[in-house]
Amino acid sequence: MVFASAVTSTAHATPTGPPVLRFAPSPNGRLHLGHAYSALTTSRLADALGGTFLLRIEDIDLGRTRRDNIDAIFADLSWLGLKWPEPVLLQSTRFDAYKAAAQSLRTRGLIYPCAATRADRTAAFGELAAKDPDGAPRYRPICRQDIRRFSSVCTADDPEIAWRLDMEKAITAVAKNTPLTITTWDGADSYDTRKADPAIWGDPVIIRKDTPASYHLAVVIDDAYQKVTHVTRGTDLEPATDLHRLLQALLGLPSPAYHHHGLLRADDGRKLAKSHGDTSLGQLRANGVTRAELLSAVGL
Ligand code: GLU
Repeated sequence: MVFASAVTSTAHATPTGPPVLRFAPSPNGRLHLGHAYSALTTSRLADALGGTFLLRIEDIDLGRTRRDNIDAIFADLSWLGLKWPEPVLLQSTRFDAYKAAAQSLRTRGLIYPCAATRADRTAAFGELAAKDPDGAPRYRPICRQDIRRFSSVCTADDPEIAWRLDMEKAITAVAKNTPLTITTWDGADSYDTRKADPAIWGDPVIIRKDTPASYHLAVVIDDAYQKVTHVTRGTDLEPATDLHRLLQALLGLPSPAYHHHGLLRADDGRKLAKSHGDTSLGQLRANGVTRAELLSAVGL
């Protein structure tokens, strides 16, 4: 894998090479209907392209990962009739790769340590601060630029603190000549490009304080490692793609085509979520729901 020190951000053509798609759940709860829809959609698109459907377990959050959730993912997806090559990649086995990438960013001065809490951020930016796509105050670099005022929250080299991307520097590093673009895919035969706008994230956390990675860093490294050509996931992750595209450019990684599918909604219109206790696939199965009934429930 290449971690380039200087990269150009050229526009992207239709992906080449054997199509590889993946479903990448986090095992911090049980899968629900929304996951079934996403996994089935991805597998069908892989079949339509004559490509490979991979399963990847995104278990970087060691505190919330439970082995029984991983086993339940295998059981639920098998019940749905899905098949994937073994062995399945677990992100918890990939921390060395994430550390190497972080080191490359650190060497170039593109990430910096930051221990600011949410309260520190509110104090620094005010309640009305612009929000990032996750709803957190958009982080501006209090640890970079106002180091005296916030010295208590900016402690270099403390292993317990997070590392944030210096967004301004990162954008300058990749987008000097050409705008950064994302290849979009409609799930059929049409590809397009759109401009990436990673600045919507402020200075995002790239290395969390509790684990030597973040979702954003791990996902771009492993999509490249597994030669994923088409990323399919829900529209809730669409804004993350802008940041992923920037990280790919910074790390010299290829950028797949992206298809963001609609989300299944609960009857009251909200997004389905493990945290809301939405009915798990295991529970539906235990209640006697058949595979055919489930496919019809998710409209497939
Ligand atoms: N692990 C993420 C989730 O469960 C999905 C990551 C992705 O598809 O990029 O929400």
